[in-house]
Formats: sequence, C-alpha cells, structure tokens
Amino acid sequence: MTQGEVFDCIIVGAGPGGLQAAIYLGRYNRNVLLIDRGGGRTWHARHIENFLTQKVISGPEIIRAGLEQARHFNVKILKGEVLRLGKKTWFEVGTGEMTFLARFVIVSSGAGDNLPPIENVHKFLGTFFFTCLDCDGYRTTGRKLAVIGNSLKTVHLAFAMKKMYTRDITLILYFLEPPEEYAELLREENIPFLTGRPARIVGEEKIEAIEFQDGRRVECEMIMSNFGYKLNDDFLAGLDLRRDREHFKYVTNSAYESSLTGLYIVGPLTGNDQAIIAAGEGAAAAIDIKKRLLEY
Ligand SMILES: Cc1cc2nc3c(=O)[nH]c(=O)nc-3n(C[C@H](O)[C@H](O)[C@H](O)COP(=O)(O)OP(=O)(O)OC[C@H]3O[C@@H](n4cnc5c(N)ncnc54)[C@H](O)[C@@H]3O)c2cc1C
Repeated sequence: MTQGEVFDCIIVGAGPGGLQAAIYLGRYNRNVLLIDRGGGRTWHARHIENFLTQKVISGPEIIRAGLEQARHFNVKILKGEVLRLGKKTWFEVGTGEMTFLARFVIVSSGAGDNLPPIENVHKFLGTFFFTCLDCDGYRTTGRKLAVIGNSLKTVHLAFAMKKMYTRDITLILYFLEPPEEYAELLREENIPFLTGRPARIVGEEKIEAIEFQDGRRVECEMIMSNFGYKLNDDFLAGLDLRRDREHFKYVTNSAYESSLTGLYIVGPLTGNDQAIIAAGEGAAAAIDIKKRLLEY
C-alpha cells in the first residue's frame, strides 16, 4: 500500500458478505483492500448446516477458507478497526491513524447479539445456547427447550418453536408479565411460562438447567434466547444514510447500494442475518461495482 493510493474498493468486514465480495472483485483484477477487526458473529457460529454443499461447517472454517481464497486473488487484507468513513473526492476510510482512499466501499460489518447477563452463556453459545431460529432452530428438534427473552416477540418465538421443533418448551420472560390474551394462548398451547431473571446456566459438557436468583430452576437441554442484536455501524454515524421506519436497518437498492452513491451495505445491516444470504449480497454488490468501475 502506498501513500495516496486510491483503491477500487475497500471492504469493511471479513465475514461471508465481505469475503464473497472480495473474491469477486479480486477476480475482476481490481485493487481491493479488505479491513477486518476479527471476532464477528461468524466466528461464534460453531455448527452451520444450512450452507449449500456443507453438511456441517463451522464459521471459523468458512472465514479461514474465505481469507485464503481472497488472498489467492490478490486482495489486500488488513487487520484493523474502521473508525471513520467519509466522502470527499474519494471515500476516506479511517483506522486509528491511517486513512485509506477508495472509489467504492462495501460495508459488511455485521451485528452483535445482545446476550443476557447469565453465568455460562459464553460457554454454551453456539452449541446448546442459541440466538437465531433460522440458524439453530432445527437442532432443538425434540429437545427440552427453554425460550428466554424480554418482549412479546419472545412469546411469538415460543409458539413458532413449538410448531416447528419441539413440544417441550418453557418460556422465561425477563420482567414481562404477558398480557392476558397471550397468557391464555400459552396455556392453550401447553407452554408453561414464568417471569424473572435467570442467574446461571447449569451443566458441565451439556446444559442441564437454568437457575434463577431466587432459587427457581427450569430443567432444559437447550436455550433459545431472544434479546435482539446491535448493528456494528458506529463508523457510519456521520453519513446520514437512509434507514427503515424504525430507524434501524439501512435502506439500499437491489444491488445493495445505500442512499450515498458508491457506498454498498450488505448482511445484517440491511436485513438478513444468514451466512449464505450475506455472501449472495456481497456477490451482487461486487458485480454492480465491477460495472461502475468500467466507467472510470
Ligand atoms: C452462534 C451463531 C450461530 C450461527 N449459525 C448460523 C447458521 O447456522 N447459518 C447461517 O447462515 N448463519 C448463522 N449465523 C449467522 C451468521 O454468522 C451471520 O449471518 C453472518 O455472519 C453474517 O455475515 P456478515 O459477513 O454480514 O457478518 P459477520 O460474520 O458478523 O462479519 C462481520 C465482520 O466485520 C467485522 N467488523 C465489524 N465492525 C468492524 C469495523 N468497524 N472495522 C473492521 N471490521 C469490523 C467483524 O469483526 C466481523 O469480522 C450464526 C451466528 C451466530 C452468532
């Protein structure tokens, strides 16, 4: 990298979205810089079984293979955190003291789960403690499950889990008494529910139970948690990009270009939190950028 060099594209984030985009742009012989701080959601996915051609693969395996493939196509890879993103003549992407210039930027920085402060959450995350129905719902099939969360969405999740995966569900709501019509439906569906704050997950190799501060205990083999997630988007704060009605997700066109010309956003920041979808969006963004670069 040389001072003042203008990259064709800078990609923020080496998850499936950013890596797939990097591989496409590398194979168009473009000058691409991929910046990643490490430790995203894919790093925590220990068991992915819904990715085409992969009966089971871990998130770290996808990332390692993706990085190797991107390097093979001459993508430059930098370990670092993007702290600033602005646009003058070129996009200016800042990491600490360094600022890099680019004609186009793809943001694929993903999201982070809001995890409840329960002892042993990290010990079981991705093996017996899950945060996403689409990712791991199937693995709860026929198992003794606790569904925990803090909103009426959690009640809907419990109904969905019962319809698709397991009849043996206990619903735990943090400080939320369900309205009577929900309580009635839960009784009809035979889903026991309780309110309170679990303190610890009990178990050595596997989960055995979830315990409350007041000593109550719910026996379970798996936990599906529903506390939402936070987007990794602090560095986009100054750009005033178009968001959805809830002012949460970013609005893009069908090629994943945001309301700022030349800035593409893929993955959970625009809506979908699945590895294969993030990869597809990364490919679509890269193909669009390829066409635009031909105009330079
Ligand atoms: C426990 C678990 C299980 C999952 N199981 C599945 C599954 O079975 N199937 C499935 O399809 N999906 C699964 N997922 C979800 C999947 O991992 C995500 O949907 C997918 O990773 C989204 O890809 P991404 O590239 O958008 O983001 P990520 O994989 O989150 O990658 C984003 C990258 O950007 C980096 N980054 C963030 N901010 C910055 C910054 N400012 N500067 C530099 N780098 C930055 C992050 O550190 C990270 O490396 C699972 C997730 C978890 C947590």
